[in-house]
Amino acid sequence: MENLLKSTYCTSLTQYTRRISREVFIGDVPLGAHHPIRVQSMTTTDTMDTIATVEQSIRMIDAGCEYVRITAPSINEAKNLENIKKELRARGYNTPLVADIHFTPNAAEVAARIVEKVRINPGNFADRKKFELHDYTDASYVEELERIRDRFIPLVKICKEYGTAMRIGTNHGSLSDRIMSRYGDSAIGMVESALEFLRICESEGFKNIVLSMKSSNPQVMVQAYRLLINKMDAENMHYPLHLGVTEAGEGEDGRIKSAAGIGTLLEDGIGDTVRVSLTEDPEFEIPVARELVSRYNNRMNHGNIPPITTDSIPYSPFSYERRLSYEVANFGAHNVPRVIADYSKHDKITAASLFPIGYLYSVPTDKWNLTDLACDYVYAGSNTIDFEIPGTLSLIYDASNWMKNHDKDRLFPLFTLDQFFNAEKISDSLNFISVSIDQVNLLIENKQIFNAGNIVLILTTANKHAMAEQRRLFIELMNQHIKVPVIIKQTYSSLNSDQLQLHASTDVGALLLDGFGDGIWIDTDGKISPQIINSLQFGILQAARTRISKTEYISCPSCGRTLFDLQETTARIRSRTDHLKGIKIGIMGCIVNGPGEMADADYGYVGSGPGKITLYKGREVVTKSINTDIAVDALIELIKANGDWVEKEELVS
Ligand code: SF4
Repeated sequence: MENLLKSTYCTSLTQYTRRISREVFIGDVPLGAHHPIRVQSMTTTDTMDTIATVEQSIRMIDAGCEYVRITAPSINEAKNLENIKKELRARGYNTPLVADIHFTPNAAEVAARIVEKVRINPGNFADRKKFELHDYTDASYVEELERIRDRFIPLVKICKEYGTAMRIGTNHGSLSDRIMSRYGDSAIGMVESALEFLRICESEGFKNIVLSMKSSNPQVMVQAYRLLINKMDAENMHYPLHLGVTEAGEGEDGRIKSAAGIGTLLEDGIGDTVRVSLTEDPEFEIPVARELVSRYNNRMNHGNIPPITTDSIPYSPFSYERRLSYEVANFGAHNVPRVIADYSKHDKITAASLFPIGYLYSVPTDKWNLTDLACDYVYAGSNTIDFEIPGTLSLIYDASNWMKNHDKDRLFPLFTLDQFFNAEKISDSLNFISVSIDQVNLLIENKQIFNAGNIVLILTTANKHAMAEQRRLFIELMNQHIKVPVIIKQTYSSLNSDQLQLHASTDVGALLLDGFGDGIWIDTDGKISPQIINSLQFGILQAARTRISKTEYISCPSCGRTLFDLQETTARIRSRTDHLKGIKIGIMGCIVNGPGEMADADYGYVGSGPGKITLYKGREVVTKSINTDIAVDALIELIKANGDWVEKEELVS
């Protein structure tokens, strides 16, 4: 890791600049170099159903999709790509088509003669996954590579001859047994998996290549892309990158997870094309991808951020480690990042105001019941709260307001730095100080104020390149060994709730993924409901895997291989299990890719034939081919048998 730290993974950490990649030709829509970041998606229809696939492709293209990917699980589907292409062209659509290949090199060789791009998965192009680890000697490993080379070169030659592009698309969940044996289940394993295939292409002089490093875990995904760039730079290779968080799921969770992973990389100028994988109809993925990408159209002219080079940062961008902070009240050290609800713009705060942020008051029992998404602090600003608040909640008042109420329990002041220096009184236990990067020198000069262990900083920014500016301040705190806990505050105005979800997940998610942040505070212009903001804040922490407050669903986006109604089934499973905090459930459309792709899920629900489901506990098959009509019940029985079940009512305290 020492050597890697001395190398870069992006052009600048402080000045937004797109990574320069080589130009790749995909039909009439080139990729990389100076071209815009392209948006793409994948059909979910049966590839043998030409008209259904064409019509779905048209819906995607009309929504703004610039490449349409279609699965080709066997030679028959690969051949049918010809009919799909002809029909699309006849209807006036010239959008490049991409064949998605797993396990079937012969289907790839057919497809490469028809479509503009072929995606292969290096984990399963020439390998069958048996979840077995082998002891390879260097010689036997080289022999394996030779076997892969022999199997892969015919496809490379066809791509060269037909001008077909290729994506070498590594998925975290489907690394080959060979790679797992040598590199383990790691970001470096993902990178090496792609590089083995890339080197074969280069040896044949084939360079029309795009790469991807997808994972359902945004932490792993971000690290793998960064490592890939680092390694490619070392070999003077500059291929464009296709970004995606795989099996992100549906609805809010899927969008937050995708934005955290994809957005983190886009913030550093990384990425030439984006696919947001949601368990929804593919045309719904396009506006999400477009919103993520559009933020960078005018990013270059952001406010100045003091420069720093990637070789002098005090943390590794290639592995996760939370920034060390000491404990103040329930912030920092081993505490989960805290959630702050901003009620300062409310005219009046009543008991009912707390319902949307996880506190339900029961009049008959005169008790507060907490949900899993009960926030930790309410910022009331200049408001006062005159009812008994729940025991797990604390309040933040503006300093002048706090002075009038400072004798109350669980009530703490918020100062500006100037106010803090001039305060007649501060709290013995917890003071919040709002700071921005302009005050970094003042903070350093006065770092003795942190010795009392009663300060938590609230980091604000007005910079368009907000994440980078806030990251810069975290870096400075680390360089100065200032271990004060820090809440990340982001302020947004004029956004609707869909935009807020994506912007905040990117801006805050990116910092959390690098180990920064002891709290989250999303402030808006008051037009978005507190419930949406609260749920978003917990969702971002969950996506960054820094605070787990709900069940996690790793569900595939579905494709032509899917063997049941994935959206409906996911909704049914979710309605029965969404109270099982901390459990990960994989819901996968097919047995070919599903078990590998569901990565670190605790339980798996996988389509294994028409009307049939196979259930997994981790990587182990528990029940094979049960009927779909009893499969959800059987999944719940399996969770119960493993002691992970709780009844919904038991959770209310
Ligand atoms: S796991 Fe889902 S998206 Fe992946 S190949 Fe199977 S059905 Fe298609």
